Amino acid sequence: MQQTFAIVKPDGVARGVIGQVLARIEANNLKIKAMKLIHMTEKQAQGFYAVHKERPFFKSLTAFMCSGPCVAMILEGDDAIARWREMMGATNFKDAAEGTIRRDFATDIERNVVHGSDAPETAAFETSYFFNAFERV
Ligand code: UDP
Ligand code: MG
Repeated sequence: MQQTFAIVKPDGVARGVIGQVLARIEANNLKIKAMKLIHMTEKQAQGFYAVHKERPFFKSLTAFMCSGPCVAMILEGDDAIARWREMMGATNFKDAAEGTIRRDFATDIERNVVHGSDAPETAAFETSYFFNAFERV
């Protein structure tokens, strides 16, 4: 069993696709171990995406991530990190495979509906950045 951290980003919440994302998570047999609606401050978004702080898109990305509420989740299952990344699709929705969340719902390379951890170390950091022990089942 492995855990990963997932977000329905502000564009996904605003466009009303929370339910469709959750339906795919459940259909793919990933278990939701924690979930909440959050509205990040700029500082929280900058801390979350600190690995990207030197990238040209950092300022725009962190502004977008605190522009509205997000759904933050911990997902669990066999190979959860890779399976959730596969369900999400490529960062750029134009390159994302058919049937992936980003291919079906994203509108922009930045506004790409969902986030997923990329490795066990980032999953551990990201889950504990957003959830304390009492918020996990
Ligand atoms: N992003 C962007 N422009 C880029 C690359 C990434 O706006 O050229 C945004 C996009 O929202 C992406 C996030 O920055 O999801 C984090 O980038 P990363 O490379 O970690 O992609 P991910 O792991 O989300 O697929
Ligand atoms: Mg990433």
